[in-house]
Amino acid sequence: MTAEYPKDLQQTIQFHGHMCPGLAIGYRAAKAAQAHLGIERAQDEELVAIIESDGCGIDAFQVLLSCTLGKGNLIYLDHGKQVYTVFCRKQGLGIRVAMKPGPFHRTPEQDAIFQKVISGNASEDEMKTFRAFQDQRVDEILAEDENTLFKIEKVSPEPPEKARIFKSVTCEFCGESVMEPRARIRDGKIACIPCSETYNRGW
Ligand SMILES: [Zn+2]
Ligand SMILES: [Zn+2]
Repeated sequence: MTAEYPKDLQQTIQFHGHMCPGLAIGYRAAKAAQAHLGIERAQDEELVAIIESDGCGIDAFQVLLSCTLGKGNLIYLDHGKQVYTVFCRKQGLGIRVAMKPGPFHRTPEQDAIFQKVISGNASEDEMKTFRAFQDQRVDEILAEDENTLFKIEKVSPEPPEKARIFKSVTCEFCGESVMEPRARIRDGKIACIPCSETYNRGW
């Protein structure tokens, strides 16, 4: 099966560790962004990806577009939405790819098995059924028309500021270095976030 996949998808699976519907969605979204921007991958920070979910799909953007956390051109927003925006600084243009709701539905039987797998109570047979269903879902996602899967639109707000390098300061509680904009003050002393005390009123 894997041998039939295009090379870039094989590389994505290798990076992620397994094939799954979430990765397939990310792969299709990354390919859509590439096609609509007419670009391939980022050598430096000319592309920036803003990903609004921490699901499997984010890895496709790291592999295909070379938008990575380490390079600072991958920004994660904890919105729990399958929305992927890629900005091309040279073109001053962004493409926003948003997963449409419900192109794929689980039958009630599939959903029951899915719940068992999540809770760790699935039998061997149920795991088999689950894997077959996941494989089928992956095939559907890879074959589906891009416009059925996604709402794709051009966006042109300013891309985020480029990654910057900051001075480090030393936390006076644990003795480890922390970048200056992330440092806190605790009892009048410099503290890293884990060593600082949080104060909030619940909002
Ligand atoms: Zn996955
Ligand atoms: Zn500390």
